[in-house]
Parts: sequence; C-alpha cells; structure tokens
Amino acid sequence: DSFLSMNLSRPILKAITTLGFSKPTPIQAATIPVALLGKDIVGNAVTGSGKTAAFTVPMLERLLYREKGKNSAATRCLVLVPTRELAVQCFDVGTKLSAHTDIRFCLAVGGLSLKSQESELRTRPDVLIATPGRLIDHIRNSPSFTLDALDILVLDEADRMLSDGFADELAEIIKSCPVSRQTMLFSATMTDSVDELVKMSLNKPVRLFV
Ligand code: AMP
Repeated sequence: DSFLSMNLSRPILKAITTLGFSKPTPIQAATIPVALLGKDIVGNAVTGSGKTAAFTVPMLERLLYREKGKNSAATRCLVLVPTRELAVQCFDVGTKLSAHTDIRFCLAVGGLSLKSQESELRTRPDVLIATPGRLIDHIRNSPSFTLDALDILVLDEADRMLSDGFADELAEIIKSCPVSRQTMLFSATMTDSVDELVKMSLNKPVRLFV
C-alpha cells in the first residue's frame, strides 16, 4: 500500500510528503479508500495508530473535490474529540495536511474565549474541531451558528467521550447535523454504549478493525 496509489490530489500528497509519512499506517490504508467513497465508517483505533490522518486526508479530499457548486461559506466538517489536547493535535495535523489548500480550520474548545470563538465561527471555517461541551454552548447560545451545511461528521475516541459523560451532548449535537452526511467513528474499545452511538449516528457503516 502507498499514498500514491490512493488517487489523492497533489496538494494533499505534497503535505503528506512534507510531514515525512512515507507509507500509510494500517488504519490509514484501511480507512482512506473507503472514506473517499463517502461511506460511513466505524474504526477500531487507538492513539498512535495514525487515525488522525486516516480521517483528515479523506475529509480534505472531499472538501476539495466537492467545492464546486457548493456553498463554500459554510462549515462542512465537524470533528468531535473528548479533550482540548486532542482537539489541538487534530487542528495541528489538519492545518499541516491542508497547508497547500485554502481550507480553513477552527477550534472550539473550553478554555478559549467564547466571544472570540463566536466571531471566528461567524466566518464559517470549513472544518470545526470541537469538544462536545463547548460545541453545545455554541449551538445553544450563538444564534448565527448552524451545522445545516455539514457533509462530514467525525466522532473521535467515541468510547472516551461517552465515559467522560458526554452521551447527552453527543445526542444533541448529532440531532443538529443534517441526516444526509458521512459519519466516521473511531474508538479504542467497542462497548455497548459505543454500539448504541453507532446505531444512532451511522448509516450502514463499514467496520474496520486493524
Ligand atoms: P495519531 O494516532 O493520529 O495520533 O498519530 C500518531 C503519530 O503518528 C503522529 O505523530 C503522526 O504524525 C504519526 N503518523 C501518522 N501517520 C503516519 C504515517 N503514515 N507515517 C509515519 N508517521 C505517521
């Protein structure tokens, strides 16, 4: 397996090379081709497996090749993660992988000023990386905030978001997303509550266990 055989666009391949990734990790080799087809995915993956790039690369590709004719001033991808630290890591990987594109990322996590995040969200970043608690604040309190144009939802470390007590927040966020979307869920463990979340949020998912 190689990144070259995945039919990726030049700006993304160039960024992958700059990051020094010479070949895909197992979760990347399994996820990227399926995600590029627009299918829902359940991936069993731990931190350190390369899962961040596994969902970010296809997300960026879909943003690039579906741009024409779409409202570009809208948030099209939402990545939910359990902690601020993971959000910052995702933001970092995403910013690097999109360095040669005009795709814009935005962080919505606790600890940062709500007001300045609100004004950044009003500029409609393409990709929003958020923790569930802070995103709920925006959904409930920012009248101009909407997920109506969302194409792709990523639930990263789903088991941890659930065990951290975010089940209700996740349900509310998922209800705010369009039904017609691609959803990718990653979890280190597959518990009953993760299964429930899969049933609630994914449509005929491809299960990838690597
Ligand atoms: P993650 O599991 O997404 O947190 O990634 C773990 C680490 O693996 C990060 O430091 C990445 O930069 C690195 N990494 C991700 N994909 C690759 C790859 N294909 N080749 C080499 N390193 C990678």
